[in-house]
Amino acid sequence: MRSLTVEPGVPDSLKLEEFRIPAADRGSVLVRTVALGVCGTDREIIAGDYGSPPPGHKRLIIGHESLGVVEEAPKGVSLYPGDVVVGIVRHPDPVPCANCAVGEWDMCRNGRYTEHGIKSLDGFGSEFWRVEPSFVVPVTRSLGLAAVLAEPASVVAKAWEHCERIGRRAQWDPQTVLVTGAGPVGLLAALFGQQRGLEVHVFDRVGDGPKPDIVRALGATYHRESLDLVPGDFDVIIECTGAPSVIAGVLGRSARDGLVCLLGVSGSAGVQSVDLGSLNREVVLDNRVIFGSVNANRRHYQAAIEVLARADHAWLHRFITKRVSLADWKEAFVPRADSIKTVVLFDDNAIPNID
Ligand code: BGC
Repeated sequence: MRSLTVEPGVPDSLKLEEFRIPAADRGSVLVRTVALGVCGTDREIIAGDYGSPPPGHKRLIIGHESLGVVEEAPKGVSLYPGDVVVGIVRHPDPVPCANCAVGEWDMCRNGRYTEHGIKSLDGFGSEFWRVEPSFVVPVTRSLGLAAVLAEPASVVAKAWEHCERIGRRAQWDPQTVLVTGAGPVGLLAALFGQQRGLEVHVFDRVGDGPKPDIVRALGATYHRESLDLVPGDFDVIIECTGAPSVIAGVLGRSARDGLVCLLGVSGSAGVQSVDLGSLNREVVLDNRVIFGSVNANRRHYQAAIEVLARADHAWLHRFITKRVSLADWKEAFVPRADSIKTVVLFDDNAIPNID
């Protein structure tokens, strides 16, 4: 089988390698890959800034946004050859900590979790992969290629779930949400807001390309000038850029009792100046919450798939802006300003609605 591998820590080490299909001791479910989504985390790993190989190995099979078809599944589980599935990225730590022990590995307490294609576990960027049944989630077949969005959508589902749990510390009747960043995660966060009946605002610096229309097609308002010009305070703010200047701009923008959920990962970017005294005063006197969120557990994948299934499928397909076949894999990893989601196609004939 062909697999995309990197040597974590070494910039630009990505290559296509041939391996044997993994043996059953790697998991009783064998999945044939249909497509692989590419995200900022993959680019960081390729740049040598993030990621680690499986213990005892130098190289890591990359890829964590999967879409595949079951080839083999054991008897007695509700998975059958031909089912369209995605793989869960994170596996619990071996201790396990209190959260991993109850399936909440997204909240791992000791950091010893592993992540497919990211941290100490081979990824899904391979023609075949194996996992145990509890780490595959069936997806709605009619989503077609858009089901490759299940993993980023699961991360968004967790963020929304936590916003709602925190919000319920008092009466919770949010009306407005501001999403910063109109990349795949931001667009999905906006979709979740729309399905909750909220007034959705999206801020992104880009003025041309597909993003403004995709946001408007959702019935949301697109803002691009400056965060200061976006009117109002927001019950929920979901920050998806990871850009320090945007983060500094949203921290004080939630309404009284409102929430800011930080969902974008950033590297070190030097010193940013924020008036912490004023910010603290507003956060305390207005009961505001600022919190971070990462990853997703099985419940979040299921919630994500429900949201995707309810969405306008044509709208979802609009933000898969680049499709590259495995033979041309190099093209998939060249960042392009006007691209939203790039997908590597491993097998275009495996499921319908690919186009
Ligand atoms: C993935 C998450 C993962 C995080 C940190 C993100 O790109 O979507 O599943 O937990 O990176 O490694």
